[in-house]
Amino acid sequence: MAFSLPNLPYSYDALEPHIDAKTMEIHHTKHHNLYLTNLNNAIKGKELESKSLEELCRNHTDNPAIRNHGGGHFNHSLFWKILSPNGGGNSTGKIADAINSNFGSYDNFKEKFTNAAMTRFGSGWAWLCKTGNKLEICSSANQDNPLMPGICTDKSIPLLGIDVWEHAYYLNYQNRRPDYINAFFNLINWEEVNNKV
Ligand code: MN
Repeated sequence: MAFSLPNLPYSYDALEPHIDAKTMEIHHTKHHNLYLTNLNNAIKGKELESKSLEELCRNHTDNPAIRNHGGGHFNHSLFWKILSPNGGGNSTGKIADAINSNFGSYDNFKEKFTNAAMTRFGSGWAWLCKTGNKLEICSSANQDNPLMPGICTDKSIPLLGIDVWEHAYYLNYQNRRPDYINAFFNLINWEEVNNKV
């Protein structure tokens, strides 16, 4: 079965001033939509059509089309959901406890996550992952993600990710990736992250 483009759970302008409406619209309708179209073309008429998106990311990334476009569809689908106009601030619930026990404090987590997002050279993502009972922070190039072998510790589950491709921020922030990363922390939907812990 073909995959489809998920609707955003908010309007394009809902995340302003942190992420502007034009960026959200282009990111969703052009960038995400292209990954989706290319993924559907890559699996069409093949046995891959019967696999879940997670399974494609875990076991079929030796196929470059699945790696790039399956990764792109998974990553963006997660990204829209972990953002919220009512998000941001200190973590809450189970994830708050896990962040405190793994990183010492929310501020330490924020510093480590920011560093991962800042030091990812070129296009990619930074992630907060769950590996067994532990949390870890990693980053990936292009549209790779922690479900794929060799990216984070194997069998990690991505809880939270930030897109650091320029298409995610360039219209509003130009070269100022640090400002975009800082703004991202005002949008994190901790309720959604807690659903994955
Ligand atoms: Mn993107």
